[in-house]
Amino acid sequence: MKDSFGREIDYMRISITDRCNLRCRYCMPDGISWIPMEEILTYEEIKVVVEEAAKLGIKKIKVTGGEPLVRLGCPALVGMLKEVPGIEQVTLTTNGVYLAEYAEELKRNGLDAVNVSLDTLDAERFEKITGRDGLDAVLEGIQAALDHQIPVKVNVVLQKEENETEWKALTELARNRKLDVRFIEMMPIGYGKRFEPVYNEVLLKKLKEEYGELVPDTRKHGNGPAVYYQIPGFEGSVGFISAIHGKFCDQCNRIRMTSTGDIKACLCFEERISVREALRVGDREEARRLIEAAISSKPAAHQFEKKEMITEKREMASIGG
Ligand code: SAM
Ligand code: SF4
Repeated sequence: MKDSFGREIDYMRISITDRCNLRCRYCMPDGISWIPMEEILTYEEIKVVVEEAAKLGIKKIKVTGGEPLVRLGCPALVGMLKEVPGIEQVTLTTNGVYLAEYAEELKRNGLDAVNVSLDTLDAERFEKITGRDGLDAVLEGIQAALDHQIPVKVNVVLQKEENETEWKALTELARNRKLDVRFIEMMPIGYGKRFEPVYNEVLLKKLKEEYGELVPDTRKHGNGPAVYYQIPGFEGSVGFISAIHGKFCDQCNRIRMTSTGDIKACLCFEERISVREALRVGDREEARRLIEAAISSKPAAHQFEKKEMITEKREMASIGG
């Protein structure tokens, strides 16, 4: 369906857990407490939401978290959602640590693509940023996904004076691998407020200095707002998601649902509409009406550039990044 600004909303990001096996310092540092399991939607409840959302025109689902692969049965959920009439695509965002273990099962259950978050290729820095040792497992996960013909996008968030110097090494992942490397500007959400972003316009300049003029890549790569370029001689592409300076709200096609069943129309604001009560009393029509209301209430644009206007207080992992 269209929102009140005429944007077609056909994409839903669903967080299936607030839990995670890593502790990325800009997302979920140590010391945060978990939401009680009884408040988290069951897979059956998530399926009902997707069935009702599909009736409103949602066609693509991203399963996210927290870390979706720490929740038991995540590949089976992918299979359940793929069966919903009207759903054309189910993809996953993961930190990649358990991806090698689940790649085959995810493929078997129909996963269409995977985004793997990876901010560094240096093992020590990986531990510093994520709080855990795990670089080799992530690299194995990426390879396992490629081996199972699951399209891969590697998502990189650069931080000033930390991993910003690694832009080239990370870009090089796309030289001999058929995957896209995408640089996502750090957003001032949750703990992300504490870190200084590296702006993509600065990065793009560096890439052009290194590789020469980049060729805009207009092929469809996914459902999001990334702008892609091809680097001559590279198998994969490089993409930029510039939430702050390349504001893409006029093309926004998405809503989100948290693991507890709150529908959020925009990452920047605290407004949310809960479908959990409706689900728990078995009222599907009410759940659909609430999803519709959330889509209709979608604001024209985020206000990340004006920190005082950001009303969302929660961290990314509990919203569903
Ligand atoms: N655990 C999974 C993962 O890491 O991909 C899925 C959830 S995680 C919240 C999704 C994405 O959000 C990750 O790529 C992470 O880097 C990104 N993220 C978290 N906090 C962010 C922030 N403040 N700004 C930009 N991206 C952020
Ligand atoms: Fe976990 Fe992903 Fe957040 Fe890192 S970014 S703490 S992997 S949810």
